[in-house]
Amino acid sequence: MFAALSEKLGGIAERLRGTARVSEKDLDATLREMRLALLEADVALPVVRFLIDEARRRALGAEVAKSLQPGQVIIKILHDLLTEVLGGQRRDLDVSRIPSVVLLCGLQGAGKTTTAGKLARLLRTQGRKVALTSVDATRPAAREQLQILAGQVGVPYIVGEGETAEAMAVSALDQARTQGHHILILDTAGRQVVDEALMAEIRAVAARVEPSERLLVLDSMTGQTALTIAEQFHAALSLTGCILTKTDADVRGGAALSVARSTGVVIRYVGTGEKIGAFEAFDPGRFAGRILGQGDVVGLVEKIQATVDREKAERAARKLKKGEFDLMDFAEQLGQMQNMGGMAGMLKMLPGMKLPKDALAQLDDKPIKRMQAMIYSMTPKERRYPKIINGSRKRRIAAGSGTSVQELNQMLKQFAQMQKMMKKMKGAKGRRMLAQLAGRFGGMPGAR
Ligand code: GDP
Ligand code: MG
Repeated sequence: MFAALSEKLGGIAERLRGTARVSEKDLDATLREMRLALLEADVALPVVRFLIDEARRRALGAEVAKSLQPGQVIIKILHDLLTEVLGGQRRDLDVSRIPSVVLLCGLQGAGKTTTAGKLARLLRTQGRKVALTSVDATRPAAREQLQILAGQVGVPYIVGEGETAEAMAVSALDQARTQGHHILILDTAGRQVVDEALMAEIRAVAARVEPSERLLVLDSMTGQTALTIAEQFHAALSLTGCILTKTDADVRGGAALSVARSTGVVIRYVGTGEKIGAFEAFDPGRFAGRILGQGDVVGLVEKIQATVDREKAERAARKLKKGEFDLMDFAEQLGQMQNMGGMAGMLKMLPGMKLPKDALAQLDDKPIKRMQAMIYSMTPKERRYPKIINGSRKRRIAAGSGTSVQELNQMLKQFAQMQKMMKKMKGAKGRRMLAQLAGRFGGMPGAR
């Protein structure tokens, strides 16, 4: 599905892949192509504009890790953007209430009745106790269609009593409750066009049975009008999502993006064919991946971005091991403590390292800030060669950092001890010493 969009965007992504340098001009050209692809896919103009502007903004602001290529980062940006616009995380139906009502609405021929059957079947295979009902008060044939479908998928059909859709819905819900069903899927009447009578009827039904999910069934072939339809149903019912049908017949797929971005109504399921099993839960991330066809790149970028912080820590750990660790490195590590478990996190990078459990818990911000302040009040030379810090220098540093000479002495003593240990450190014994050291940071004089 969405073959055309996928082909175009996939082609763009394929070319970006492995691009070592992306100039602003290249980026503009890429985004122009993307804009065209989105327009051809029938994505609404304001949505296209948003996607392009946002992609540019993120691409220009992106930090590219050394081991990544800009092209790869842009693919990841596009992937994240599409995923976000399509609703982010996949969301399961909210069926926490017993019984929960799932109301399906939409225009005639959109695929509501078929979808009711498909959804019932899917939920039943997930072990839910599901029942179906139709509240099309004027067309007995429509109700019969669903009843037959229910029989085919092996889900009970409940006959709602009454003359109006509202009465039928209330009756069906009562029966579902007494029969111990968990989920009642409610199929409603459609119209050729959205009209006030239809909206009033469906609002009345919703007011009475309070559906936990109000899903718009939307024919993906509807094109640009999908947006208007979604807006009107959303205004009347405050939709919780939509189900896009006939995606097997639609090569453009722009409606999905337009509706999601413009109304915030995200796709929850898609119908992919006439057969009862042609139905699946919609996963924005997977879908974005399918459009771009670059799942491997996206995974790679995620992994690398996560390891950049780790690499920094590893570099410091190597220096530490070689005994080249100076006060400036110390200050930098202290700075990282707040966001990544700092010294302990770094020490963990050494193979075979086991840390005392409470080493991390003992580290709190304030002593770290004080230690940093002392180091920043030193001259570069003092940081590199702490031995030159004599009495008058100490008074200057303590005054400059708002600490005391005594505190400074303690810090320097700890640091000197650490450096000494670093130099001696080899093998398992050294690692044990490092672990002890990490434990001791919590007990440092400043760390009251
Ligand atoms: P309703 O009026 O909204 O209840 O629509 P129906 O459920 O009666 O479906 C109208 C037509 O669309 C039927 O011919 C269905 O077989 C067809 N249909 C529904 N969903 C899909 C789908 O995902 N793919 C295809 N190809 N056809 C579908
Ligand atoms: Mg129907």
